[in-house]
Amino acid sequence: MRSTSLLKLLSLILLPGLPAVTTAQLSDSDAFLEERAVMVETQIEARGVKDARVLDSMKEVPRHLFISESLWPLAYSDRPLSISNDQTISQPYIVALMTELLQPEEHHVVLEIGTGSGYQAAVLSKLVDRVYTIEIVPELGRSAESILDRLGYDNVTVRVGDGYQGWPEEAPFDRIIVTAAPEEIPQKLVEQLKPGGRMILPVGPQWWGQDLLILEKDGEGNVKTTQSLPVRFVPMIRGNVFQ
Ligand code: SAH
Repeated sequence: MRSTSLLKLLSLILLPGLPAVTTAQLSDSDAFLEERAVMVETQIEARGVKDARVLDSMKEVPRHLFISESLWPLAYSDRPLSISNDQTISQPYIVALMTELLQPEEHHVVLEIGTGSGYQAAVLSKLVDRVYTIEIVPELGRSAESILDRLGYDNVTVRVGDGYQGWPEEAPFDRIIVTAAPEEIPQKLVEQLKPGGRMILPVGPQWWGQDLLILEKDGEGNVKTTQSLPVRFVPMIRGNVFQ
């Protein structure tokens, strides 16, 4: 057995359902270049996302490498996909929209809650100075950290923990993006946002009736929220239930 196949077999045994990417596949990611370009044009630009930096990042990040190989044929389709532990990687359009709404700038330090596969963090890493991302499911956090590391996204730091509390040691943040839905806006996250900062987050009951909110903090610390569109995200889990 070639060592890459052995590695793949081992990772399948150790991490069922998680991406089992071999070194050969990492360098073969351009096999999907054309599919990514079509995804960006037909699903993302067609729905009105215009930020050229966001579109470029979505064209570059190999989404298929963040999901299990059995789902690669669907990697660039217009839908969310399952990752392990009953979690999902968002529909590409939602990733692009939330990234555009965040208004990322090159010098920004960004906090993401809900690392999941690591895909959103990878898209952001090309647009900002540094990304801190928190995942509550240890298996997902470790898998995302490993793929981000292997793909060279070295301005991303992953922590396993409860994102509801934010990441006080690295606060304040220029931008915060939340990719699991809390029932109310987490006040700790508002506190960890810089004056002049923006947070994009889905808020609402489990599975239905959630709204994507844009929260802006002005120079004096006053907060304004605007509703963007109805969304359906996995619920934000409260407390360190996995530790
Ligand atoms: N951004 C991800 C998709 C997120 S799915 C991607 O690009 O793939 C939502 C993720 O939030 C899940 O992985 C879930 O385990 C995680 N999550 C739920 N509650 C959380 C919490 N309190 N803190 C951190 N992560 C949480």
